[in-house]
Amino acid sequence: MVIVMKADASSNDIYHLEEFINSHGARTHVSEGEERTIIGVIGYNHQVKREHLLTLAGVEKVIPISKPYKLVSREFKKDNTVIYLNGVAIGQDSPVIIAGPCAVESEKQIMEIAHIVKENGGHLLRGGAFKPRSSPYSFQGLGEEGLQLLRKAKEETGLYIVTEILEAQYVPLVAEYADVLQIGARNMQNYELLKAVGRIDKPVLLKRGMSAQLNEFLMSAEYVMSEGNSQIILCERGIRTFVEYSRNTLDLNVVPAIKNISHLPIIVDPSHGTGRRDLIEPLSLAGLAVGADGLMIEVHPHPEEAWSDADQTLDPQAYKQLMHRISHFIKWQSYYKEEESLSQLK
Ligand code: PEP
Ligand code: MN
Repeated sequence: MVIVMKADASSNDIYHLEEFINSHGARTHVSEGEERTIIGVIGYNHQVKREHLLTLAGVEKVIPISKPYKLVSREFKKDNTVIYLNGVAIGQDSPVIIAGPCAVESEKQIMEIAHIVKENGGHLLRGGAFKPRSSPYSFQGLGEEGLQLLRKAKEETGLYIVTEILEAQYVPLVAEYADVLQIGARNMQNYELLKAVGRIDKPVLLKRGMSAQLNEFLMSAEYVMSEGNSQIILCERGIRTFVEYSRNTLDLNVVPAIKNISHLPIIVDPSHGTGRRDLIEPLSLAGLAVGADGLMIEVHPHPEEAWSDADQTLDPQAYKQLMHRISHFIKWQSYYKEEESLSQLK
């Protein structure tokens, strides 16, 4: 259920309402809008009845939400969620580019690529320090040393850091270094991890599981939000299908579909979504065309020497060209939007 408060509801009304709900074993999630406050009721309790809530002071409407996900739905929050980070707005008008290597390998590698990401217009630096690998014999990441190198790259370039967290017990450690905590595809349904990142005050980048349905993806985001953290960036990174010419199939349908039913921003990762360097540029532009709020791109100073995901990693030249095309595409898109709004005025 979602409770919409009256525009003139007092903080006392909100306090009493929350107290009533909490004392009946359910929890609340308060979202303060510009005009009015909206309160999500989390956890089912038959004693918290809609009819009764309607009689409490300051309550305007009580909307039952039919979907299994509630806080992440547009029924709960009409306006897009925008996440602000170091002058970058994720989920607003302009797409955000997150770029960097699959894994942090050395100081030289991460410093070199951080400068290239920055100089060519990237907004955030990505790089794994803890890597979830299919084989236990593959490189597992540099661990805390990798986090320290990411911090150094941030100090040198000013780029904020996106890095993956694999286990709930490491949340305090990773949160000390990262600006955005990434939950990878393999952990999308690691509910303890989702709850742990739900309790911190840093944005979470949640990647879609490789066989997750849209509802499951949003339910995972609901886990994070139900713990209090609403700074969630969804990421479509491709799903497993019968195709064998690409690592995954980038499901771009999900971008406008999620925009319709959720207020959360969603970005696209064409690197993992295709597994192929030659497909990254067209699928990046396609992602932006269907309304993605940003892209996550793997780039390395020497992809042929990359310790992981070499085949889907751009070299600096290809990254530069991609960023150039993206900037043209964005200009074209804003020109088109402007034309459209002008013709509506006529
Ligand atoms: C990654 O971004 O490096 C990664 C491991 O991605 P995914 O979880 O989508 O496979
Ligand atoms: Mn990777």
